[in-house]
Amino acid sequence: MRQILHIDMDAFFASVEQRDDPSLRGKPVLVGGPSRRGVVAAASYEARKFGVHSAMPMAEALRRCPRAVVVTPTRGRYEEASAQVFDVFHRYTPLVEGLSIDEAFLDVTGSQSLFGDGVTIARAIKKDILDATGLTASAGVAPCKFAAKIASDMQKPDGLTVVGEDVAAFLAPLPVEKMWGIGPKTAPTLRRLGYATLGDLAKADPTALEKVLGSWANDVRELARGNDARTVEPDRDAKSISAEQTYEHDLTTKDEIARTLLAHAARVAERLTASGLSAGAVMVKLKYADFTLLSRRKALEEPASDTTTLHGVALELLDRFPVEGARVRLTGVAAQDLGPGAVQPTLFPDRAAARRRGLESVLLDAKDRFGGRPITFATLLGGRGEPEDED
Ligand SMILES: [Mg+2]
Repeated sequence: MRQILHIDMDAFFASVEQRDDPSLRGKPVLVGGPSRRGVVAAASYEARKFGVHSAMPMAEALRRCPRAVVVTPTRGRYEEASAQVFDVFHRYTPLVEGLSIDEAFLDVTGSQSLFGDGVTIARAIKKDILDATGLTASAGVAPCKFAAKIASDMQKPDGLTVVGEDVAAFLAPLPVEKMWGIGPKTAPTLRRLGYATLGDLAKADPTALEKVLGSWANDVRELARGNDARTVEPDRDAKSISAEQTYEHDLTTKDEIARTLLAHAARVAERLTASGLSAGAVMVKLKYADFTLLSRRKALEEPASDTTTLHGVALELLDRFPVEGARVRLTGVAAQDLGPGAVQPTLFPDRAAARRRGLESVLLDAKDRFGGRPITFATLLGGRGEPEDED
């Protein structure tokens, strides 16, 4: 049985703001532009009690919750937390498909011999995310993407919902709105025709359903029956693979920093190898106690994916940073200019099988149709598309 995880950070932007500003904790917080004509990018759970949700116009949100504190988004800290979260994902599988800055599908089927079953991995990831970022995530574990995505939303925040082998039974009682792509416009029509639950859609007469949903009817019916062969498609356009960490206590000696670079290089090498990639360049970055961020980069003579080479280059780069008397709060190593590398098929034996299943997928265009979005900050803040609670 496949083990697909959907992991989604809880009220991501709002939680970052509450983490970094204790005066916001316990309060309704709306993240969004200062203009009342903008939309809510994220609402804290305290604000949601008033019926506020992300993508809602700011003016409407403030009508419902006048005491809400409006915070202007601060891109850098969200991206930093996002990178840490995706770094955690990649510790457990190379098959990570990012859906947005704070949300991804993971196929951990081939990781179970290393890390335990899907539920165990989901728990470990939630804990690692909390340790790395101080933020909570919710997870869904299921044999397919569709059910995993629904499951992650069921016990927010800090939730973990597991769907067993009988996906159809899990889906049957859920309202039709849970079907991807069925929004406030289509749902009432479906209900009027007697389709109130996913179970109703599963047993719908194909011809009758086609009259309502057109060519899309068959996909919807198959999804409602739990037939979802779509594979997790790792982000192909990844430009780099990196590992970094923020330290509770500043690093003050070159030796200390060098040791962290070894740990990062080892993690990056592991991920390169697992993804069948090699690095054409290595980048090291240091963030100082005053938040100055410096990076140094070196192209490799030959592509490499092993710890020794990456760490060696990272040490060369370290010589080019000011470290005497400095206080360093974050170190990172990135592999860049990625290209094909030596594949180790034994580490993740299911990758080839997953690819084959991809060819058989009957739902090729589902990602576009059901709201697959490119990972851009603008998309999240723009609130385009059908209003839905993204977190
Ligand atoms: Mg989220």
